[in-house]
Amino acid sequence: MQIDIVTIFPDFFRGPLEYGIIRRAREADLATIDVHDLRAFAHDRHRTVDDRPFGGGEGMVLKPEPIFECVEALNVAPRQARLTGEARQSVVLLSAQGRRFDQDEAEKLAVLDQIVLICGRYEGVDERVSQHLADRELSIGDYVLSGGEIGAAVIVDCITRLIPGAVGNEASTRQESFTASEQLGDSDLPSSTCASGGLLDYPHYTRPSDFRGMLVPEVLSSGNHNEIRRWRRRSALEKTMHNRPDLLKGAVLSDEDKRLLAQIKGKAAAKERNYVEPHH
Ligand code: SAH
Repeated sequence: MQIDIVTIFPDFFRGPLEYGIIRRAREADLATIDVHDLRAFAHDRHRTVDDRPFGGGEGMVLKPEPIFECVEALNVAPRQARLTGEARQSVVLLSAQGRRFDQDEAEKLAVLDQIVLICGRYEGVDERVSQHLADRELSIGDYVLSGGEIGAAVIVDCITRLIPGAVGNEASTRQESFTASEQLGDSDLPSSTCASGGLLDYPHYTRPSDFRGMLVPEVLSSGNHNEIRRWRRRSALEKTMHNRPDLLKGAVLSDEDKRLLAQIKGKAAAKERNYVEPHH
């Protein structure tokens, strides 16, 4: 996969792309990541990449010309071909106004041949970039960052680990939080683990089994694979219900899951009933 990042701060990426899975994927030629300095595409003496907003208002806006020229120099297919899927490429504008980036989007991007990530700065990017150059506008979350660079790093990280061969044990990337179970084959469901099915991942523990009196749940050392599987599934359900109840609606739940969920809810309700207001 070819990944191109367009930014006014190319040095920013010295850190994030040089560790762990991303580093190994680059070394193994599974991913080539090139960072392009937007200023190299500005032609005036001061290498100006921004200008004041039409209509007035705060701050500066990234100009369209250098961004168009930079992306055009990367030889990507026309926008229409990218939109229809005829070209396995995407030009992405990082933007707080974009569609929210998530694991589904990452999986769609991970099968492409080339991805260009355009990092905004200041008040944002001239809208013509979104309308006529980029084929998607992505936000990494409902908050405003000062630039697209961290978002680009997030997307590169997330996509790179989905490239076949990038993660040592491929099954591990398919049993994590958010992975829908339709994406899993039967062989991916060994009895001792449980696919996420759209839930959050189950809790993980490693040695020591007693750390300062904090104990690892006994069932995990029992060797009983069915019990372990059930415990993990119950924990994943519990955690999802507690931290991300919104995910339960979209999750693929088996009959056993529904029973476990009913138990968890029952337990929570009982706790609530037994709760006595403290006296003052
Ligand atoms: N005025 C804009 C924010 C500009 S922030 C607004 O209110 O929506 C400057 C740049 O940071 C943006 O152009 C974008 O590239 C990046 N950015 C900010 N928040 C982001 C987010 N949640 N996801 C991805 N990129 C973001």
